[in-house]
Parts: sequence; C-alpha cells; structure tokens
Amino acid sequence: MLKGKTALITGGSRGIGKAIALAMGESAANVAILYAGNEAAARETCEQIRTMGAQAECWQCDVSDFDVSAKVTKEVIARFGRVDILVNNAGITRDNLIMAMKKEDFEAVIDTNLQGTFHMIKHLYGPFVKQKAGTIINISSVSGMMGNAGQANYAAAKAGMIGLTKSVAKELASRGITCNAIAPGFIATDMTDNMNDASRDAAVAMIPLKRMGRPEDIAKTAVFLASDSASYITGEVVKVDGGLYI
Ligand code: NDP
Repeated sequence: MLKGKTALITGGSRGIGKAIALAMGESAANVAILYAGNEAAARETCEQIRTMGAQAECWQCDVSDFDVSAKVTKEVIARFGRVDILVNNAGITRDNLIMAMKKEDFEAVIDTNLQGTFHMIKHLYGPFVKQKAGTIINISSVSGMMGNAGQANYAAAKAGMIGLTKSVAKELASRGITCNAIAPGFIATDMTDNMNDASRDAAVAMIPLKRMGRPEDIAKTAVFLASDSASYITGEVVKVDGGLYI
C-alpha cells in the first residue's frame, strides 16, 4: 500500500512508535527510525522491518535539539533519497500537580513533544514543498483535548500539537501536503506501565469500550492517514481512545 515511500518515525524504538514503524514496514514503506537513547530497541525494530522485505535504518536523535534533528533529517534523506511520511511520535511525560511541577519539567515536555514536532516539520518543509508531496502525522493525545489534572505540561504540549497540525494543514495544502493528528486515549506502553492498579482500573472504568488501547490500534490509523485512501483528509484530529472523549 505504501510501496516506494519512505516513512520517518520519531520515537520508533518502543511503544506506539514501534508499532507504527512495523505497520509502515508491513505496508512496504521504507522506514527511518529516530530514537532518544534506546539503541538496542531501535535496532531490533529495524531488524523486524527488514525481515518483512522493507528497508529500515535508525538514528539516535533528540528531537528537542534543533541542530541535531536538522543534521539527522539530512542524513535520512541522503540514505533513502526522500521522505514521504513524517510521523511525530516522540514524547515524554513529567507528570505532577502544578504546585509541585518544576519549571524544568514543564519545559522538558514542551521541548520534546511540541518543539520537537515543530523542528521535524521545519526540517522537512523545504523537501516536501520541493517534491510537492508529503504527509505529516502528529501523535497528540486526548489529554490535549480534555486537559488532565497532573498533566498541565503534557496537555499544553499536546493541545499545541493540534494547533500546529491545523496551521500546517492550511499552510501546506496548496502544495499537495497533508497534516493530521491522532489523539490516542490510554494505550498500553511503557508510558502507561508505571500507573498503579487503582489508577489503571479507574482509567479503564472511564473508557466506554472498557479496555486500554493497543499500540497497533494507533498504528493502523497512522497507516490509513499515510495512504492514498486519506488523500482528501487534512487538518483532522482522529481520536483513537475507545470512546473516552465522547
Ligand atoms: P514510550 O515511552 O513507550 O516511547 C517513547 C518513545 O519516544 C521512545 O521511542 C523514545 O525513545 C522516544 N523519545 C522520547 N524522547 C525523545 C526525544 N527527545 N527524541 C527522540 N525520541 C524520543 O511512549 P508511547 O509509545 O506510549 O507514546 C508515544 C507517543 O504517543 C507519545 O507522543 C505520547 O505522548 C503519545 N501518547 C501516548 C499515550 C499512551 O497512553 N501511551 C496516550 C496518548 C498519547 P527511546 O526508546 O530511545 O527512549
């Protein structure tokens, strides 16, 4: 379905990003994975994609660093010839009530989740405009739509990603480039693994479909948004949350 295309996925070493990378590889796209520090996991994801017959390479790259992410983006283009699909998935949490939230915790989450997304869009803006094609998928969160006590930094970053998505969609539509967001609900990954049983039960109780989501639930939506089937969709925020935000 995505044969001949190259997908760049930030945070593709684990969790949702890994599932997206595998699903893109399964759809015959070549895959570039960016990761923060977990080289073994990133290499393992690449290996799995190669066994599907697609090409895959990984780069250590802190997306919050403008210069490093610019350099790595150039390397990805040099390696694969072009990028067609950008998935801004890299994200972190530093949860706390504002009373206890340090300035550094607020900034770290904005820097990685929101600025990192801006950096990658900025680096691929020129190449996408030049090739008159490209699709951007930003992994936001229902927290950015609903707000969440204890996640002011994260919800602000994720809400910012939605504004960014809609602005980029309007700015680049005339160039044949689409930009959409996915807003996952609670998805079972390392990020949600540290919830205690009581918090997890309380979260599941709020979800109409009565289960946490799987990384693959997000990956399938990402592949759809990257495909020709979604070529008339831009500026959209697709909730994949089991009904949490109805
Ligand atoms: P994980 O914590 O499981 O994985 C995070 C990924 O992001 C890892 O690949 C990590 O790399 C990478 N990463 C973190 N910081 C950076 C950075 N500065 N530069 C580059 N890569 C980085 O998270 P999830 O899979 O759960 O989440 C993925 C995305 O989905 C995030 O944006 C998250 O906010 C969003 N989301 C998740 C939900 C959930 O319930 N899990 C719900 C809603 C949204 P490394 O392995 O090297 O550390």
